[in-house]
Amino acid sequence: MNSASTTISGTFGKQRPFVISGPCSAETEAQMITTAKLLAATGKVDAIRAGIWKPRTRPGQFEGAGLEGLKWLAMAKQETGLPITTEVANAGHVEACLKAGVDILWIGARTTVNPFSVQEIADALKGVDIPVMVKNPVNPDLELWMGALERIERAGIKKIAAILRGFSSFEKGPFRNAPMWDLAIELKTRIPGLEMFCDPSHISGNRELIGMISQKALDLDMAGLMIESHPNPDAAWSDARQQVTPSALAALLDALVVRSVSTDDRSFKDTLAVLRDQIDQIDDEIMQKMANRMKISRQIGQYKKDNNVTILQVSRWEEIVHTRVSLGKAMGLDEGFTRDLLRLIHHESIQVQTKVMNEAAVKV
Ligand code: PEP
Ligand code: MN
Repeated sequence: MNSASTTISGTFGKQRPFVISGPCSAETEAQMITTAKLLAATGKVDAIRAGIWKPRTRPGQFEGAGLEGLKWLAMAKQETGLPITTEVANAGHVEACLKAGVDILWIGARTTVNPFSVQEIADALKGVDIPVMVKNPVNPDLELWMGALERIERAGIKKIAAILRGFSSFEKGPFRNAPMWDLAIELKTRIPGLEMFCDPSHISGNRELIGMISQKALDLDMAGLMIESHPNPDAAWSDARQQVTPSALAALLDALVVRSVSTDDRSFKDTLAVLRDQIDQIDDEIMQKMANRMKISRQIGQYKKDNNVTILQVSRWEEIVHTRVSLGKAMGLDEGFTRDLLRLIHHESIQVQTKVMNEAAVKV
């Protein structure tokens, strides 16, 4: 894809981060206008978002206000002077948005997975000059994400951005959708000029983690953030847990540190070099310790084999997890991280012991 022109933040000539905020769904006229006014009053928001047609995972929930909601979004633009954006999932949505004066469109995660739908949107956009943002597909498939971006580009759209909103998985982790930052980094590497936004609201699924994820996005040089906000988040008709009030949003944005990608400052470079040397050294030590640990596992495997004992002894494993997690906690390590690390080490240790068990006995 031609990367040079793929910028959305350039549209509004904004220093990063470009901040898009607003409710998950436009619910009522009053909620939409109140949110927009409060957001505009913070002076920290560059565009207003609201879902008009909501793709709900299960039926029987609020599926969006539809065309009526689009009118409220257009009113929000009039009231605040801020550009507006919403999700489109088919050609009808695109036409309605263009008619209503929507400034930026985005394609949602459940639509990016479907090339038929993306192509339908692309066809509806032929000859139109409007920025389009493409959220990652729900499944971690980089080709699918790239394919959607390419379909939009081939329709002649000049201003294109990608949005990382995380990937769903059966295994439940700390996030509603696993961020898988490396996929976004890989996409940016493949399309260097592509503006990458982050949607920390859908990644985290709860408002407590939004600040931390936003900071990480900025540290990865992302161009902007899309954060859901609502005047009364707990009463929201969709995604209540992850929405923040406009004033909480302002505080969250104030707390973010915007770091530059590189600097010519000599002392910065020297300090970085020293810290990186330390990391290299520690990594060497970790690898060495792992190798030693596996060597001992091999010896244990041999001993168990000689004495006809099973490899896995659950009580021993439980004891390991218990003591290491407490130790990790005391040292300020995240419990989930310690558990993941132990699981990985234990898995490898069992492999090593299984190999020893299955080796033919060496005759002496
Ligand atoms: C949304 O932004 O409210 C939304 C439905 O997002 P996603 O497509 O990322 O689930
Ligand atoms: Mn939402």
